[in-house]
Amino acid sequence: MNVRVGLGYDIHRLVEGRRLYLGAIEIPHDRGLLGHSDGDAAAHAVCDAALGAAGLGDLGAQFSETDPAWKDASGAILLAETRRRVAARGFRLAQVDVSIVAEAPRLAAYRPAMIEAIARALDLEVGAVSVKARTNEGLDSIGRGEAIAAWAVVLLEAT
Ligand code: MG
Repeated sequence: MNVRVGLGYDIHRLVEGRRLYLGAIEIPHDRGLLGHSDGDAAAHAVCDAALGAAGLGDLGAQFSETDPAWKDASGAILLAETRRRVAARGFRLAQVDVSIVAEAPRLAAYRPAMIEAIARALDLEVGAVSVKARTNEGLDSIGRGEAIAAWAVVLLEAT
């Protein structure tokens, strides 16, 4: 069994004047996530996990925040590019589990669409992708609605 596992994490500030993108879809909200890219913390956590599993470092090492190529880049684009870079290292993604921590908006209704979008970007069956969402119980910056964070675990198989 030639598999690798990676853990990913990301957090972005919620600010006015930005659209909210999470899990490679747009979600209606009065604020959005600040970032050089579209700020999709869930997609970034998945990329971070896959890159770590493949020995490619973290998201910032692969997609520099000063590189104009990634200005406003969507989560789907970063996921697809991560998949390409992981494949070049001799691995394919086998399974993704991402956990989003957000006080608002409520994300449960958007889980199926996020799963579908992440699976499409990574060329995975929807059954291989899990998206979960929880609040931070009102605690800390996430609980005050100042930020949204995400954790992800990705399993890779050698090709
Ligand atoms: Mg990020």
